[in-house]
Amino acid sequence: MSTALPEQIEAIFQQVKARNPGEDEFHQAVKEVLESLGPVLVKYPEFSDQKIIERICEPERQIIFRVPWQDDRGEVHINRGFRVEFNSALGPYKGGLRFHPSVYLGIIKFLGFEQVFKNALTGMPIGGGKGGADFDPKGRSDSEIMRFCQSFMTELHRHLGEHTDVPAGDIGVGGREIGYLFGQYKRLTNRYESGVLTGKGIGWGGSLVRKEATGYGAVYFVREMLKVRKDSLDGKTCVVSGAGNVAIYTIEKLHEHGARVVACSDSHGVIIVEKGIDLDLVKQLKEVERRRIADYAGYRQGARYLAGGTIWEVPCQVAMPSATQNELNGRDARTLVRNGCIAIGEGANMPTTPEGIRVFLDAGIAYGPGKAANAGGVATSALEMQQNASRDSWSFEFTEQKLDSIMTGIHAATWETAEEFGAPGNYVIGANIAGFIRVARAMEALGLI
Ligand code: NDP
Repeated sequence: MSTALPEQIEAIFQQVKARNPGEDEFHQAVKEVLESLGPVLVKYPEFSDQKIIERICEPERQIIFRVPWQDDRGEVHINRGFRVEFNSALGPYKGGLRFHPSVYLGIIKFLGFEQVFKNALTGMPIGGGKGGADFDPKGRSDSEIMRFCQSFMTELHRHLGEHTDVPAGDIGVGGREIGYLFGQYKRLTNRYESGVLTGKGIGWGGSLVRKEATGYGAVYFVREMLKVRKDSLDGKTCVVSGAGNVAIYTIEKLHEHGARVVACSDSHGVIIVEKGIDLDLVKQLKEVERRRIADYAGYRQGARYLAGGTIWEVPCQVAMPSATQNELNGRDARTLVRNGCIAIGEGANMPTTPEGIRVFLDAGIAYGPGKAANAGGVATSALEMQQNASRDSWSFEFTEQKLDSIMTGIHAATWETAEEFGAPGNYVIGANIAGFIRVARAMEALGLI
């Protein structure tokens, strides 16, 4: 029988690195999960015998394709599209599409890998996948975005289906892009297959609360972390990085809970407003006019803009990284702890570097990793799929109540699993182990496939 030695885990990790050269973000995501799994292999040696970890680290399918398109001046551009179908033991592949110039296979694989465990944590019947393109939507006209989405879907559609693979949005892919992608899928297949994409518009198959779900869910997770510490969000000073979909609805829900968000950001800089961010203005600038957060300062007295500054230097009690991977490093984490931060809730995927995570865990503050804390988005996507399958649409209140109970359930599961495996209060270990066991049990039941 196999024994769960740290060397066994290390050997698996070295194999993953060797098989996937140059994919640093993927290595980082795999290492973080593998570091939690030693005690699981001791308790369940059958997972070693069946090589579940080795199988889970190898995507079921990886698709890379050419995306040619023409800009408004007639110039031809070639981008690269990806879809990594990571694991379908629990259901159809589910996970967003990212359009950003930094996208390459290593980013999509890290996101797809994380997605497998996150989706398992929701308790819903969804497998994990992720996709996207190295396309930069910034500064592009609506027509250019539409042509790009149509070209992207012209290849991708043959790999999708409501029972096969169901993409959604991520960085650079919001309601507008999902609309163009769905339109092209419908045209190519001649099927109004609502369940093939989530994040659709209200009125053509979308779910209320989907747009708000990742941010709202992350705040519910932080609320639960504070509750076990006999504390609450009421009156807390918060910072939220980013100013996109996740950040905006994180700020909205924090304000509803009586907290005050004093800073947000985008990739160019940070806006600081001591008396609290005016969220309506952020929505107008970012969602409607697609402008920079720097423009906020021109509309409100008392707002300070730091070009290129780091948001983590703004003193706060609760920090919610909601922009992108590795945006918060060890130095930032030490600054946050020194300034009195008591809770971190990750809206983004893998926003904290391994050194930053160690700082938070060593300081004993409440640290909610993205895998658990930002699962509300995909959970509500699964609720959208349920509504599509039954040709029904639920009210905002009903859907939000479901989201709240899913996030409360994820918090409880990660908390209890951490305790069971001897790491009370460590949500990293709790999330990794709880997610892994659910996927592993399904893989075991389905046989060697
Ligand atoms: P958006 O595209 O709506 O917003 C992204 C925000 O992050 C923007 O303000 C953007 O600034 C900023 N940002 C992006 N890249 C960088 C960078 N390299 N450095 C600094 N800032 C950056 O994306 P989302 O809000 O949807 O996604 C944010 C994060 O949340 C991602 O990690 C995503 O994977 C994760 N997530 C999203 C879910 C969803 O439902 N949308 C679900 C679960 C996780 P700028 O405009 O200047 O680029």
